[in-house]
Amino acid sequence: MSIVRLEHVFKEYTLGEQQVCALNDISLSIEDGSFMAIAGPSGSGKSTLLNLIGCIDTPSLGKIFIDHQDISGRTPDELSDLRARAIGFIFQTFNLFPVLSAAENVEYPLLQFKELSVTERRSRVSKYLAIVGLSRFARHRPNQLSGGQRQRVAIARALATQPKIVLADEPTANLDHKTGEGILQLMKDINGSFRTTFIFSTHDRRVMEMANRLVRIEDGQIVRHEAEEQETSLS
Ligand code: ADP
Ligand code: ADP
Repeated sequence: MSIVRLEHVFKEYTLGEQQVCALNDISLSIEDGSFMAIAGPSGSGKSTLLNLIGCIDTPSLGKIFIDHQDISGRTPDELSDLRARAIGFIFQTFNLFPVLSAAENVEYPLLQFKELSVTERRSRVSKYLAIVGLSRFARHRPNQLSGGQRQRVAIARALATQPKIVLADEPTANLDHKTGEGILQLMKDINGSFRTTFIFSTHDRRVMEMANRLVRIEDGQIVRHEAEEQETSLS
């Protein structure tokens, strides 16, 4: 079952007089439960691809299906609702609110789910802080945490809404190698226990090797698509 499908997707940006073709005819099907890396040089279109899958931006041409729903023609409100319920985001610069504690950062995206009571919200926060190993740091602010711990808070925040898909744009780029590996291993463990689909972009070869699916893009086109043999034979 594919959780994400792109059909002949193009994305052009207008820069003054110039047209930049950031994605040039991308077709891609991502199986539910994948742990997928998007690799490619800087400027190849990785962030653009993640933004389209994350419904942050819309394609110039082509169709995108998220969880079997065609997202073309959706209103901005419908897209933001889909995004809030189906997708979690992790960024290379962590993007935490500096004045909020770790627990408050994790709680923040849950505030828009009116159906959750305060108690349910708090228990989600504790649960996901525990999953990322930060229960003891709930009251710390981001500047009282290391880079790796900040990224763990961001992972807890992304998971707290229980999304089907987590998108991570270069999640280890600002971490030293060992810390980055720990973050990837944590993502992989979560992928294993909850079957949450992870799609992450990276430059780091060792990070790519942890993926069970690898898409390499250059100049907005897929130049290589690999899946682990085991997975291919299952599908
Ligand atoms: P990557 O994430 O692989 O570094 P991007 O998706 O950020 O690549 O960029 C792909 C191409 O699209 C680049 O040529 C970049 O300059 C261009 N681009 C990205 N975002 C914009 C934008 N908002 N406006 C104009 N051009 C953009
Ligand atoms: P419970 O919360 O029922 O006690 P566990 O904590 O043992 O169960 O783990 C299963 C739980 O994982 C589900 O109940 C649900 O709260 C949580 N879960 C489901 N889907 C996801 C997801 N995509 N990401 C993170 N957690 C999820």
